[in-house]
Amino acid sequence: MKVLITPRSFPQSGAKAYKLLREQEFEIIENRTGKTLTENQLVELCRDVDGIIVGVDPITERVLRSAGKLKAISKYGAGLDNVDLETARELGIKVDRAAGTNAVSVAELTVGLIFAIARNIPYSASSVKSGGWDRLRGIEITGKTIGIIGLGAIGREVARMAFGIGMNILGYDPYIDTNASFLKDYSVNLTTLERIYREADFITLHLPLTDGTRHMINRDTLAMMKPTAYLINTARGELVDEDALYDALKSGALAGAAQDVFSKEPPEGHKLLELDNFILTSHIGAYTVEANEKMAVKSAENLIRMLKEE
Ligand code: NAD
Repeated sequence: MKVLITPRSFPQSGAKAYKLLREQEFEIIENRTGKTLTENQLVELCRDVDGIIVGVDPITERVLRSAGKLKAISKYGAGLDNVDLETARELGIKVDRAAGTNAVSVAELTVGLIFAIARNIPYSASSVKSGGWDRLRGIEITGKTIGIIGLGAIGREVARMAFGIGMNILGYDPYIDTNASFLKDYSVNLTTLERIYREADFITLHLPLTDGTRHMINRDTLAMMKPTAYLINTARGELVDEDALYDALKSGALAGAAQDVFSKEPPEGHKLLELDNFILTSHIGAYTVEANEKMAVKSAENLIRMLKEE
C-alpha cells in the first residue's frame, strides 16, 4: 500500500512512526516542498495513494474525488477543519485524528501567551533589542478570572495550569460530561458563554472550527467583553472576526489579544500586526519535541489500524 505523509515536522520527529509504517511494508511518499501543500499538489500526490497522514493541508472535495484508491485519512493533530468530512463519509473514506497528543504543548503555549500579553513581554523584549528601554505597565494574573471555551483535551490542560496559577475558572462546553472529575479537581465553574464574555479577564478558545463557530468572536460578542479583558486564541483563526477584533483593540474596547493562529497563515501584513496590544505567534502550539513525536506515532498507529480494518 502507498501512503502520503504531508506534515513538515513529521520527518524530524517521526523515527518511531516510520518504523511502524515500514513494518507494514507501506510505500511512503512525502511532502518535500517545505510548505503546506496546495489543493493542486494534493490532487497530483493523492491520485494513487491508499492512505494519508495529513497536517493542515486542504483535503477538499476535489482532492477526495480525484483520489480513487484512498481509504483512510489520519490527522497529525486535533483539528479536522481542513478535511471535507462530509465528502469523506460519502466516499467511505475513514478519518481519525491524533486526539490529545498535543494538549500539554498547546496549553503551555496558551498560558505563555497569557503571561506575554498581560506583561507586554514581546513589546519590552523587542524594544530592548532595538536599542530602547521602553515599558508598558502590565497586570497580575493570580486571582483573575479565566473563561475557557471548549473543555476538551487542551481546555482541560489549560484549566489545570490556570488552577495552579490561582485563577478563578469559568468554563463553557455544551458537550461536556458535567460529572467529569477535572471540573471539581480544578474548580472549574461551568457557565454560559455570555457570562464568560461579560466577566472573564482572559477568554481563551479551545473548540473546533465549524460552520457554527466561525466568527463566534465578532462585533456583538466583543462588545460584551470588559475593556480590561484579553482574548487568547490558540485554536483556529476563523473563530475570530479579525476586522472586528482590530476595531476593539484600536479603540480600547478590549485590552489585548494573543493568537497562535490566523485566518490566513502567514497573515501578510494584516493591520492587526501594527498594534502593540496584539501578539501573533506562527502556529507553534503543537510544535514541540514531545508533541510532534506523540502526534507522529499516534497518526501512524491510526492510519495502520484504519487500513488494516479494510
Ligand atoms: P478536543 O476535541 O479534545 O476538544 C474540543 C472541545 O470543544 C470538545 O470538548 C467539544 O465538546 C468542545 N466544543 C465543540 N463545539 C463547541 C462549542 N460550540 N462551544 C464550546 N465548546 C465546544 O480538541 P483539542 O485537542 O482540545 O483541540 C481544540 C482545538 O484546538 C482544535 O479543534 C484545533 O482547532 C486547535 N488546535 C490548535 C493547535 C495549534 O497548533 N495552535 C494544536 C492543536 C489543536
